[in-house]
Amino acid sequence: MNTIKGSCLCGGIHYSSHLAPLTTAVCHCSDCQKQSGSAFSVNVLVPAEGFLVEGASLGCYAKPGGSGLPVKRYFCTSCGSALYSEVAAMPGVMAVKAGTLAQPASATPKLHLWCASAQPWVAIDRALPCFEQAPTE
Ligand SMILES: [Zn+2]
Ligand SMILES: [Zn+2]
Repeated sequence: MNTIKGSCLCGGIHYSSHLAPLTTAVCHCSDCQKQSGSAFSVNVLVPAEGFLVEGASLGCYAKPGGSGLPVKRYFCTSCGSALYSEVAAMPGVMAVKAGTLAQPASATPKLHLWCASAQPWVAIDRALPCFEQAPTE
């Protein structure tokens, strides 16, 4: 996966990055569960530099994350698709929701975050690095 592109459900917003993604992280935090309406979000981390967004219907909702610093969650105001997040605790990186990619099959998860709040019926691949919360570096 050297470049990525994707869009929301209605096609009103398109994004792309010409820089290679850094990794793919599955996030089991309760905020991602709420926002996705699912049990976790699958985030492809791409450099903020070179990440381009086109479309008029971009909305943003900001809420403090586990670090206490804001997480800005961007979505399409027309169709409601969650598209990507800007995490203040992870500067210079965009967390793109893998389900909105043109080719999500290439976004193989490499680690799991916030496993402490994972739903008990979600099977987590424990062969991958699993963090109870967010990794601290
Ligand atoms: Zn849309
Ligand atoms: Zn999360």
